[in-house]
Amino acid sequence: MKKFKTESKRMLDLVINSIYTNREIFLRELLSNGSDAIDKLYYKGLTEGLTGLTRDDFYINIQLDKENRTLKITDNGIGMTAEELENNLGTIAKSGSFDFKNGNEGQNADIDIIGQFGVGFYSAFMVAKKVEVLSKAYGQDKAYLWTSSGADGYEIKESEKESNGTEITLYLKDNTSEDSFDEFLEEYKIKELVKKYSDYIRYPIKMLVTSFEYEDNTEGEHEHDENCECEHDENCECEHEHEHYSPKEVKKEQVLNSMTPVWRKTKAELSEGEYEKFYKEEFYDMQDPLRCIYTQAEGAVDYKALLFIPKTIPYNYYSKNYEKGLKLYTAGVMITDKCADLLPDYFNFVKGVVDSEVTLNISRETVQQNRQLKAIKNSLEKKIKSELNQMAKNDREKYEQFFENFGTSIKYGIYQSFGMNSEGLVDLLIFKSAKTGKYITLQEYIDNAKEDQKTIYYASGKTVEACKALPKLEAVLEKGFDVICLTEDVDEFCLKMVGKYKEFEFKSYEAEDVGETVETVIDSGVKDAIMEVLKDKIVNVKLSNNLKNHPVSLTSEGELSIEMEKVFAKMPNVNQPMKAQKVLEINAEHQVYEKLKQTLGEDREKFDDIVNILFDQACLISGLEVEDVTGLTDRIFKLIV
Ligand code: ADP
Ligand code: MG
Repeated sequence: MKKFKTESKRMLDLVINSIYTNREIFLRELLSNGSDAIDKLYYKGLTEGLTGLTRDDFYINIQLDKENRTLKITDNGIGMTAEELENNLGTIAKSGSFDFKNGNEGQNADIDIIGQFGVGFYSAFMVAKKVEVLSKAYGQDKAYLWTSSGADGYEIKESEKESNGTEITLYLKDNTSEDSFDEFLEEYKIKELVKKYSDYIRYPIKMLVTSFEYEDNTEGEHEHDENCECEHDENCECEHEHEHYSPKEVKKEQVLNSMTPVWRKTKAELSEGEYEKFYKEEFYDMQDPLRCIYTQAEGAVDYKALLFIPKTIPYNYYSKNYEKGLKLYTAGVMITDKCADLLPDYFNFVKGVVDSEVTLNISRETVQQNRQLKAIKNSLEKKIKSELNQMAKNDREKYEQFFENFGTSIKYGIYQSFGMNSEGLVDLLIFKSAKTGKYITLQEYIDNAKEDQKTIYYASGKTVEACKALPKLEAVLEKGFDVICLTEDVDEFCLKMVGKYKEFEFKSYEAEDVGETVETVIDSGVKDAIMEVLKDKIVNVKLSNNLKNHPVSLTSEGELSIEMEKVFAKMPNVNQPMKAQKVLEINAEHQVYEKLKQTLGEDREKFDDIVNILFDQACLISGLEVEDVTGLTDRIFKLIV
């Protein structure tokens, strides 16, 4: 027996124990090798003008033998000579495929060699105690058998094989109390693994698959009741009816892989609804996607991608275990199920696949160079933005559906990056207009703005109705300004980050001076007294005559609005939540103002109590919490008795 070279021995240990996180990938590796071997022969045929080699004759075969616990993978590719067996399988980290690819660079043939590191083959030892490789090189008479039981070494001897190609037999490891290898003898498991990793290998991967057929064995076998008078025909009513049909196990050859991925098909090859069907199967959704996006790039970045926007929110979207990411394929082989680096967080709802020749790390489970992923990500990001923009323009109904499901994610994207990502994303925002109750983009707001208008007005509330019921809002609308309704917590924060949209500043509708509701001058004695009582809580007191029925209300000065204060108050783990600079507005037309003036002269203590109560009331009306609830109830009680 020949020993593996020393480094090889250590390497083999590494392969078996450390490189791969998942032993099931051995199948992917062996099938990839088969595909490479066929590619090489096909390429040889092309370049050397060999006749009789057509794509359709090539295949890879998987055979399962439960009795002997073997799994056999056969290809009719280029095969290996004794020397090649020695070089390629006797030296770990030696890749014949890599050399082949390098040797034939620039020839631009239609081949897609997968191998490059020269370790994939040894992953077989993660599941097999012994591996046999019977191979006959194309155009040679002699076949050779390579045998190894792992780290100790290998043997090569002459053998018999009818035609060119390679047949690899894995003798599966014995089951232990912790570990069973039996699943690799199950048809369903093999089918699943081929689908998962090797679905787009370009040659058919065939296997005999068991099914049951119900055979009509009315003839002869039917043991007939003496008294039965039937002629074994349909009308027979004798007790043996069930025996007319018995299940029979049949094995039929099936092609397990789809070969051409949908995203590599040309328009002409695609059938109606094929993208949608692919989406539903691949991403376990019952519904068609809201939108399919096919895109490809060549040059600095090279990829094909098929992306989808789901119609509804994925069931686990808001749960901790929702993972964003796209499936990454290279040379028809799946590398990562969810490559998170391909999508920005704010497009975390996008599903899909990317097919690209990226540089892989040795386990071929991750990508080596993040630079490549970054370039693809940037390119995809642009594409998604432009698709969404188009949808907003041309297919508004769908877009609104999209935005109601996933718009929040985009708003958070703008907010969390402090507005740095806002380019392109801001155009995707839509808000309900207080004027029409319909969604509008910021551009549409501007398009309908008044001549000298340089402000986008907003109002915050739980719903559009709540916004419209805000004091003064009606008056702002009547002046001809539209107001966008901010109904989500993140909205105001998001707009604060954006700052401006095309020279239009975002401002609360309250900033608009509403002509007919000018402030009435507040009695300075009353004002000073109120400020004294509420000195830590407010920054100003005003008299106002547009509060409808409310005796008092709160507005804010400065950056932070009352709505934003509420959001901060809700955040967990914030010790000192930020507070708005509040202005207490007193309804000039309400009798409460007269009462205040009167009380101030008569009973200062009562005045203080009333002011405190009014402030707490204003907080409640604004949806803020009352800080000192017992204080409030005590004061009310004092007034009652
Ligand atoms: P890689 O595929 O990365 O080159 P492997 O360890 O999977 O590394 O395989 C090592 C080499 O063995 C391959 O490069 C190839 O030259 C040869 N080889 C493996 N399997 C086959 C096969 N089925 N037919 C022909 N050559 C093969
Ligand atoms: Mg390989």
